[in-house]
Amino acid sequence: MQIPFLDLKRQYLSIKQELDTAISEIISSQRFILGNEVEQFEKEIANYLNVKHAIGVASGTDALFLSLKALGIKQGDKVITTPFTFIATAEVIANLGAIPVFVDIDPHTFNISADNLKHTLEKEANIKAIIPVHLFGQPAEIEDIIEIANGIPVIEDCAQSIGAEYNGRKTGTFGELGCFSFFPAKNLGCFGDGGLITTNSTGLYNKIRLLRNHGSSPEDKYKNMIIGHSSRLDALQARVLRIKLKHLDNWNNKRILNADYYDNMLQIKAPFKHPKAKHVYNQYTLRVQNRSQLRAKLKEIGIPTMVYYPLPLHLQPCFDHLNHKQGDFPEAEKACEEVLSIPIFPELKTEENEYIAKNLNELSK
Ligand SMILES: *Cc1c(COP(=O)(O)O)cnc(C)c1O
Repeated sequence: MQIPFLDLKRQYLSIKQELDTAISEIISSQRFILGNEVEQFEKEIANYLNVKHAIGVASGTDALFLSLKALGIKQGDKVITTPFTFIATAEVIANLGAIPVFVDIDPHTFNISADNLKHTLEKEANIKAIIPVHLFGQPAEIEDIIEIANGIPVIEDCAQSIGAEYNGRKTGTFGELGCFSFFPAKNLGCFGDGGLITTNSTGLYNKIRLLRNHGSSPEDKYKNMIIGHSSRLDALQARVLRIKLKHLDNWNNKRILNADYYDNMLQIKAPFKHPKAKHVYNQYTLRVQNRSQLRAKLKEIGIPTMVYYPLPLHLQPCFDHLNHKQGDFPEAEKACEEVLSIPIFPELKTEENEYIAKNLNELSK
């Protein structure tokens, strides 16, 4: 058996007719940037998430960048985030000339630790924002984080957690701002790059609408109110997302069923599930000791695996100037050495799920 790590073709084929028709309608209309499709999508996804405002942007990275900008983060400001995430989360901080301040993770959830956050906030003055990541589809302890933040704005990085819930409420609706990515490999993926910002603040909503489109006034297009950017969601992507959004809960439930199966069948310890969290498994991530040998053996028998992430952000060459060293964030470093993600996508077949569990048990004896 040769199993794909992620097979987007299976998902496409399951709704091909509907997507193909919709795309050809957009092509016939020759209206590609923002417009009615994007507005409709923004309404539908705000409704799905149960948040006041949603703003389509060009990518998840831009969603984070524009969120920081909307909060007025500037040169020299300090912003807290986790060292165990995709580079974009900290890159956007540095791109504004601001300084990423890392806080180590909780080894169970892989998410930023609320306790460590508390300690850092006691030591570090002048923190201007906090970006927790709901990593692998499992919410961080967002209510505690917001309480500890005590008024410092919180931006939720929901790139991997669309549809996930904490205490029955969806991620991206707790903080000042929520940032989503529609990169094809996320739980809701479009046909290229796309992103979204959510907020319950009408002030931030109005500001981000300006920022994403050259500061251009909604009333008077060639009047530019602020220095902005070009970061818009395409009509084509919005249309694809409107169709896929209807299937999202179904797909997330399939991921959960695949995870339940692994949880029950695998002899090694299953990924921790926070009791208040609905985890939507963008990744199903185990900890193993003999990772490179195990990966090689799994590969030989057609089981692909991935390592998210092999190097913590504080040890990335691009952050040399922050002068961190090995040992600064031991839980993030340990996670980088041990994590192993196995196939979990919704269209994974029963026999593939079984084959993976059976062989993983055999090889990790
Ligand atoms: C994917 C991802 C991003 C960036 O999203 P893009 O749409 O690829 O720019 C940011 N943060 C996390 C945690 C991600 O997984």
